[in-house]
Amino acid sequence: MADMRTHDAAPGGALPVAAAPARGATASFEFFPPKDEAAGKALWACVERLAPLAPAFMSVTYGAGGSTRERTHAVVARIQKDTGIAAAAHLTCVGAGRGEIDDVARRYWDAGIRHIVALRGDPPEGEDRYTPHPGGYAYAADLVQGLMRIGDFEVSVAAYPEVHPEADSAAADLDNLKRKFDAGAKRAITQFFFAAETYLRFRDTAAAAGIGAPIVPGILPVTNFKQVLRFAGMCGASVPGWMVELFDGLDDDLETRKLIAATVAAEQCRALLVEGVTEFHFYTLNRADLVYAICHILGIRAGHGPTDGTGKN
Ligand SMILES: Cc1cc2nc3c(=O)[nH]c(=O)nc-3n(C[C@H](O)[C@H](O)[C@H](O)COP(=O)(O)OP(=O)(O)OC[C@H]3O[C@@H](n4cnc5c(N)ncnc54)[C@H](O)[C@@H]3O)c2cc1C
Repeated sequence: MADMRTHDAAPGGALPVAAAPARGATASFEFFPPKDEAAGKALWACVERLAPLAPAFMSVTYGAGGSTRERTHAVVARIQKDTGIAAAAHLTCVGAGRGEIDDVARRYWDAGIRHIVALRGDPPEGEDRYTPHPGGYAYAADLVQGLMRIGDFEVSVAAYPEVHPEADSAAADLDNLKRKFDAGAKRAITQFFFAAETYLRFRDTAAAAGIGAPIVPGILPVTNFKQVLRFAGMCGASVPGWMVELFDGLDDDLETRKLIAATVAAEQCRALLVEGVTEFHFYTLNRADLVYAICHILGIRAGHGPTDGTGKN
């Protein structure tokens, strides 16, 4: 039988994956509004499982072109009411005039929701180019400005470590991020990425450009690899060759894909932790199991607050 004694470090001095090194790591979780009753059950089971991890906030996406306006509102309001955790509503500029969007925001304010994730949004299905709505907010920075006129919202915005696909250049995209902060955003959440260096380089570039606000990495645990390849293609995120290799031959083997997905995301987060990152935003896809496991590894645990990695708390 293998030697089962415990060791503090793996050969070479690196911490083994099971050792939680984090002091004070925090998570936030993103969900999407369910389409039907079965999806609703899955969502609420996921929210209930993750809520005890005391996330900084739980956010709910806004369907393309505002298609989920009512459902997003209902889920956001219920999360905050049922869990007591601050809920954040995603809101986009697409397909509506300023007055209409302002009304959506006012309804959130009146319902006690104080956190909005302000986005431009993607073109509606069937259109391949984004065109601002006449009389609407053209870009996310304009929406942030509009929200600030309505109430003292906490506003988060999107950031792109690999540059937004429609940006003229990386520098123009960074200027846009700055405009969003100047307009009043408090934090940015990144598009998903898989190589930790991609995020770290972007964080350094943003800091060098004078951005001091938090840029929280968006973590996507991958179980459906084919779907992720499609998403990544659309949003300009690169998928490293080693990931393609890892998921090769597993199209019909969900259990193994899940184990690999948890390992990959945990390693990614730990590489970020080592570089001082302590806030993580998880794209849960309304499934709790992988995110729960990764949070556990990061020391984000139910009931007893952040761990200091000593195993004593
Ligand atoms: C964390 C996160 C959450 C998301 N949630 C949702 C969601 O709930 N619903 C949804 O539909 N989508 C969502 N998205 C996707 C997002 O809507 C798209 O990525 C969209 O294409 C860009 O949105 P943005 O807010 O980053 O846009 P912006 O910051 O407005 O930027 C969009 C593009 O326009 C350029 N730009 C900005 N201002 C100008 C200007 N004045 N002139 C010319 N170019 C300009 C920018 O450089 C960039 O290329 C999310 C993305 C992220 C990262």
